[in-house]
Amino acid sequence: MLMVNKMLFKKHNNEGDLERLKGEIEDYLKKNNFVVFDGKIPERNTIIWNENWQKFLETAKSLEINLISFSTQEFDEEEPGEFAKYIGKICILELAWFKEGIIHNLVKVPNWFEDFLESKKLLEVDSRFEERFNCQDCDKKLGENEYGRCSSCETKKKQKDHKVIKELAEKITDEEEFQNLSNNKQREFYLAENHSEVLERLKEEDIMINTFFSFAGPMAKEKKKANK
Ligand SMILES: [Zn+2]
Repeated sequence: MLMVNKMLFKKHNNEGDLERLKGEIEDYLKKNNFVVFDGKIPERNTIIWNENWQKFLETAKSLEINLISFSTQEFDEEEPGEFAKYIGKICILELAWFKEGIIHNLVKVPNWFEDFLESKKLLEVDSRFEERFNCQDCDKKLGENEYGRCSSCETKKKQKDHKVIKELAEKITDEEEFQNLSNNKQREFYLAENHSEVLERLKEEDIMINTFFSFAGPMAKEKKKANK
C-alpha cells in the first residue's frame, strides 16, 4: 500500500498538472547540462524543500552540483473510485540532489492526488511534528514556524519567567560566596549544595538553568563591584 508522508508536501505547493511540469523540468535539466538519473530516495538524512523547482535546481547549479535524481510515478490503483480518470497520470514527481551526505529533496503532487490520499486515509503525519500543531499552553493551533507555544503564550511565559528569575536571583546574588563564583558549572554546584529550592523552582517553572545564570551571573558581578 502506498503511504505518503504528509511532511513531503504542503497543499499550496501542489501543482495542477505534473505532465507539463515534467516537460519543463526535463528541458531545464538538459539545457543546463545536469547529469540526471532515476532513483529512489530514502527518508534518512533528507531535507524536504518547500520551494518551486526552479529555485531548487538553480541552487544545485550555484553549488556546482550537477547530479540530479529525477523520477515520476504514475497513478495506478486497483480501486480508484471517483479518481479513475487519473489512472496513468503522474501522481508524484520527485527531484533530489546531494551535498555532504544530505539529500535535498523536492516532491510535487497534483491537487487531486492529495485528495485521493486523504480519501483513502493514506496520509501519514510525521510524529516528530505532531506536538507542534497545538500550543502547549492555550491549545490554539500553531502557525507554520511556531512550536511549543504560540507567540502570545511565548511572550507571556517570557514575562513570567523574567519575574521568577529576578526574584530568585535577587536573593542568591547577595551572597558573597555566589558572587565569587566564575562560571556556570560552579554556580550550579553551589545551588545544588546550598539552594536546592532554587533549582527545584526553576524546574517547576520550566526555566533553563543557563537562562537563569545569564541573568544571575552579571547581577552577581555588579553586586561584587558595588561592594568593593
Ligand atoms: Zn498559546
